[in-house]
Amino acid sequence: MFNKILIANRGEIACRVIQTAHRLGIRCVAVYSEADRHARHVAMADEAFLLGPAPSSESYLRADTIIEVAKASGAQAIHPGYGFLSENTDFAKACEANDIVFIGPPASAIAAMGSKSAAKAIMQDAGVPLVPGYHGDDQSLDLLRAEAEKCGFPLLLKAVAGGGGKGMRVVEQMSEFNEALAAAQREAKNAFGNPDMLIEKYLTQPRHVEIQVFCDNFGNGVYLAERDCSVQRRHQKVLEEAPAPGLSDETRQAMGEAAVRAAQAIDYVGAGTVEFLYDVDGSFYFMEMNTRLQVEHPVTEMITGQDLVEWQLRIAGGEPLPLAQEQIRLRGHALEARIYAEDPDHDFLPATGRLHYLRTPQETAHVRVDTGVVEGDEVSIHYDPMIAKLIVWDDTRERAINRMVQALEEYRINGVKTNIRFLHALADSAPFRDEALDTGFIGKHEALLFPAPKLDEHLGLVLSACFFLLNNKAEQTLPADPWSPFARQNSWRLNSCYARPMILLSDDVQHSLSILEQDDRYEIRVGDSRYDVQASLSDDCLHATVNGHRFSICGHLHQDQLVLFHEGETFHCARHREHYGLEDQASEGGLQAPMNGSVVAVLVKAGDRVEAGQTLVIMEAMKMEHAIKAPAAGTVSEVFFAEGDLVSEGAELIAVELDNEEAA
Ligand code: ADP
Repeated sequence: MFNKILIANRGEIACRVIQTAHRLGIRCVAVYSEADRHARHVAMADEAFLLGPAPSSESYLRADTIIEVAKASGAQAIHPGYGFLSENTDFAKACEANDIVFIGPPASAIAAMGSKSAAKAIMQDAGVPLVPGYHGDDQSLDLLRAEAEKCGFPLLLKAVAGGGGKGMRVVEQMSEFNEALAAAQREAKNAFGNPDMLIEKYLTQPRHVEIQVFCDNFGNGVYLAERDCSVQRRHQKVLEEAPAPGLSDETRQAMGEAAVRAAQAIDYVGAGTVEFLYDVDGSFYFMEMNTRLQVEHPVTEMITGQDLVEWQLRIAGGEPLPLAQEQIRLRGHALEARIYAEDPDHDFLPATGRLHYLRTPQETAHVRVDTGVVEGDEVSIHYDPMIAKLIVWDDTRERAINRMVQALEEYRINGVKTNIRFLHALADSAPFRDEALDTGFIGKHEALLFPAPKLDEHLGLVLSACFFLLNNKAEQTLPADPWSPFARQNSWRLNSCYARPMILLSDDVQHSLSILEQDDRYEIRVGDSRYDVQASLSDDCLHATVNGHRFSICGHLHQDQLVLFHEGETFHCARHREHYGLEDQASEGGLQAPMNGSVVAVLVKAGDRVEAGQTLVIMEAMKMEHAIKAPAAGTVSEVFFAEGDLVSEGAELIAVELDNEEAA
């Protein structure tokens, strides 16, 4: 076994690997970018080296620098995590050339699976079933159109070099083909440096079921059951589970054996995942093989009781597989929710910002949190916006779901938009509980997944007012004479009972409250309603009795912005101060950047006529493209940015004079 390894990654996976390595007595070398100087993975490691500036291309993707660091630090092996260099053949080769063990498969196996097209050809030969389509080298437009016609619609365009749902487009009909192809190629070129596409029949109700395989250097291969990753947005997984609900033992075995066959066809070594589309009729088709440890590996660990990073380290260190197939037992059910900095209400746009407040559920035998961030860290534009993985386990799926719902309620974040409320609604929804899974789940059940807020708005305002008042009191310093009437912290006034106003902003609407304080009680009026409140604040939680109804609700105040956490959802409000110019809202057809990112394409120029819904500008953030569309028909009056420009969230990109405004 190794004495010292280097982890060529960041975030939760770097922390995850360090944890197991330390348990096995292996020293860990971390690498980091300038943006990650104070990151958790750096703090956890035994030593750490700066690679370069924040962009991945200048830091975590610098294979040469990483190899230098490994040599200088005496690391015997490199764990690449997932993403970055984990599936880079040249990097695996460079490790080998420098006598460093790459903790992953041989370069040849990565290369074989690195192209989705080549992988399909290999699988065809190994007798693994494939989705019908085209996976050839000829990428001319005419040929792709002819193959699309042959395949039929809807079809899926997929980047041959793709991953993470990027460079994929569903095409419903021929008339959309060229535009979709151009967009997918551009995204693929950007993200993977290779615009090549393959075409697949788009299955309309498949499930994504994947098999975890492991092979050693002695020709042994096993499968550690499957994961169901059908719940996806933008073809990216958000909630995964193991085992796959309703999968029969026979199907598990058939898929598992096909997966091991697939791995052995390319002389695989280490951890790998063979992904299948599992169709309603029980048939399954090979999709791709990921030649690394997957993000969602913890659910497999929870049901098998194995540490997959330990397996990776042992195999890379030359040991045989820790268990034979018949020794692998499954127990209970596990779920993983990916907590992302993103805005589910705006098409899951990645969000950035500082984690001003971060509280995680208590970790137990049932609840696990894999994360790479701590309170105060920044979720930046440079890296994946995943904040953490929340993993739960219990005897049955139903119990595991209950644990997940509970744990999500205890996950509290302020400072960055997250998908916690969305995950909560998802895990708790009837179709999810009923196992009605397929990859279209989120689109199909939108109404359930974006429910109206549970916390009544007035009640939210009342509780917020208490929070502001009590927080103020806690912060006020006492004057010298504690017996002076002026030292009293309530609204004591000579000869009068004084109701003070408070203006709160929630969802950009101003609410005027009036608050009368008597001893430890408040009478709060909002609109026509009157609330009798008794409240106290301890730590971050408000304990309040409102008109006889007792509540405990946690919250966090950052500057004048308050967030309350209630059953997985958040209630935001701000205390109004004079300078909050609400009237700045009017935008007159101006179109703003929805996030920090870069301009990839400007499709119109000043003077152009545009139709409602027409794409005007394409932006990219975190390797995903976002189209900025005309809200209504009009004429472009000015374009403020050019291709390649970096823009900040909220910056006006383009001005359009809308027709109906002209008329007005
Ligand atoms: P990536 O490598 O980018 O993750 P995959 O090939 O693994 O891309 O596909 C990601 C997801 O896209 C799958 O989990 C599935 O939901 C969907 N998908 C892929 N191929 C098809 C297909 N032929 N028909 C329907 N859905 C598909």
